[in-house]
Amino acid sequence: MTAAGTWRFLIDVAKCEDCNNCLLACKDEHVGNHWPGVTLPQPRRGARWMNVVRKERGQYPHVDVAYRPTPCQHCADAPCVAASGGAIARRPDGIVLIDPDKAKGRRDLVESCPYGAIDWNEELSVPQKCTLCAHLLDTGWKEPRCVQSCPTGALKVVRLDDAEAARLATTEGLLPLHPEHGTKPTALYRSLARFEKCFVAGSVAAETNGVVDCVAGANVTLSRGAEVVATATTDAFGDFKLDGLEEGSGRYALAVSGPAGRGIRLEVEVTTSVSLGVVPI
Ligand code: SF4
Ligand code: SF4
Repeated sequence: MTAAGTWRFLIDVAKCEDCNNCLLACKDEHVGNHWPGVTLPQPRRGARWMNVVRKERGQYPHVDVAYRPTPCQHCADAPCVAASGGAIARRPDGIVLIDPDKAKGRRDLVESCPYGAIDWNEELSVPQKCTLCAHLLDTGWKEPRCVQSCPTGALKVVRLDDAEAARLATTEGLLPLHPEHGTKPTALYRSLARFEKCFVAGSVAAETNGVVDCVAGANVTLSRGAEVVATATTDAFGDFKLDGLEEGSGRYALAVSGPAGRGIRLEVEVTTSVSLGVVPI
């Protein structure tokens, strides 16, 4: 890590429990407080500089919910900067800040962010967003208020140059959010698949002497043609979950192989996450 690097969020979707301590800490820091050179006060209501977005996947009984903290991504090629005519700038340490004097009345800048990270402060007539708590980092704080308040460690900030960040992303499987926007977002996410991919799940059961019971330890394979896409072993409840599939990726073959030569082969159409319910073998 070098002091000359870029400040960036590291966000773990799997650790976020939607407690919104981060949002409250952000409000505590910014509502009613003017931090000169960084931002005017945040309004009490409406603004969500740290926005925790929710995603529900699957159907009963195989459902999960993930939460994705989504602040400004402090993009290296930020369209908000390009659209602002000098009202928004990216500092050498990577923090993107809105100048409230130059941006006064510029409601159009809300639309310039493809992540929806810019809010409009009606009372002060300025666009506003996450500042990465630059006023704190500039005075020696190691982390901003939202990160400090997160009880699960879902939020972190690091200061890394691009090569260090790329190495970290590769070794730890971190991904940027919506790189297709082409803004070079600097935030990196762990477990983004919980948000962006889908699953096939089911409960394997078998009938023996008129009694239906769940089947633990059955092997489940999802394949397409000769390619095995995902495998799983059923748990004590006969449940399996094959995760990390692309939404809308189409037709797969599902094979379940249980004890005593029992098994079944099914065709599964993947449009989004799907529960197959009970899979009898
Ligand atoms: Fe600008 Fe939006 Fe990127 Fe933040 S996330 S730097 S507001 S384009
Ligand atoms: Fe709010 Fe600071 Fe966290 Fe940004 S870094 S969301 S300004 S508390």
